[in-house]
Amino acid sequence: MASYRICCLPGDGIGPEILAEGKRVLERVAELEGFDVELEDHLIGGAAIDATASAPEGATALPEETLEAAKEADAVLLASVGGPKWDSTDPRAPRPEQGLLAIRKGLGLYLNLRPVKVYDALIGASSLKPEFLHGVDLLIVRELTGGLYFGTRERIEDAPGAGRDGEPGIWCSDALEYGEWEVERVLRWAFECASRRERRRLTSVDKANVLGTSRLWREVAHRLREEWPEVAYEDLYVDNAAMQLVSEPTRFDVVVTENTFGDILSDEAAQLTGSLGMLASASLGSGTPLFEPSHGSAPDIAGRGIANPLAQILSVGLLLRHGLLEAGAADRVELAVERALADGWRTADIADEATPASQILSTRAMGDAVLERL
Ligand code: NAD
Repeated sequence: MASYRICCLPGDGIGPEILAEGKRVLERVAELEGFDVELEDHLIGGAAIDATASAPEGATALPEETLEAAKEADAVLLASVGGPKWDSTDPRAPRPEQGLLAIRKGLGLYLNLRPVKVYDALIGASSLKPEFLHGVDLLIVRELTGGLYFGTRERIEDAPGAGRDGEPGIWCSDALEYGEWEVERVLRWAFECASRRERRRLTSVDKANVLGTSRLWREVAHRLREEWPEVAYEDLYVDNAAMQLVSEPTRFDVVVTENTFGDILSDEAAQLTGSLGMLASASLGSGTPLFEPSHGSAPDIAGRGIANPLAQILSVGLLLRHGLLEAGAADRVELAVERALADGWRTADIADEATPASQILSTRAMGDAVLERL
């Protein structure tokens, strides 16, 4: 029997509450599909800062022991980090979010996946008209460790001519840099992923009419598309993509793009669903893959048992599909979530005026509703 080690990171706020439901679903689906999972909790974020406060090397949001455990695991299942307790204005104070950046870096995770699916049962939650949303099921593949966010930065306080009327002023620059292989490894993954989906469409988003890095991106994509003739490939400029994501979102299947464009487009696409509590994401690369909800630690509702666990449970679905390659188990989890929603069950954040109070569930009860439908 296959056996997998999963490094679980509850983090802060609602993290431990939603992770508990994700773990229950993972254990049950493993039992149903005939494989073994070994789950082990480790510290990250604010919880790690508190636990390491008196350590001789100082407090940290990612203890060495957590990173080692993550490296040795088959997949990492993260909940969320952060909260007002650790919002210090002292720039030297460790911050929970540093734990996220450090673990992504430590595991060499260079691409991020954000699936965006509009569930018919929740179609009213979006600010867009339902007729545009029915059938939206797309996947954004974003390069995660290159480009503008990681390029060379420069700031000159008294640069000649940067002020008004040619006076000296502040001058800043952020370089947008990409190497060929950085682009190719992400595109390869996106082609492969598109070839395994039903519609087999891949949209590569760039700004090749202006940017040299985009022309490199397009050059590599066009070379690679020969290897996946079954994938219907298209190029789209980022401004056009941003427009079409809201005017005709159903036309997209897999969308691949560089870091900054991906950051913006994935948040725009997330808005199609209208509910933060439903979105999961995966970060993949050379080391252990990591799966997490797209929302934060929701400190405003932490400890009340009312958080929506579905994004965490859908992260388990992603973990099964892309981390453990257990597609049958992933299908089961995704279908169970869809069925629980179709049967009218809601947590408070996705309920509307028409939802009867008896259908509004606690975190735990929503976990039960999914478990019953696995
Ligand atoms: P947030 O996503 O935590 O919350 C935004 C709003 O959505 C809140 O009203 C919250 O109650 C609600 N919400 C979020 N997830 C929910 C869920 N599962 N069920 C029900 N309601 C939910 O964003 P924020 O308030 O901007 O940030 C709170 C903390 O989370 C901050 O410390 C921030 O730095 C951190 N954060 C962490 C991550 C992460 O762990 N990946 C991501 C974003 C923000």
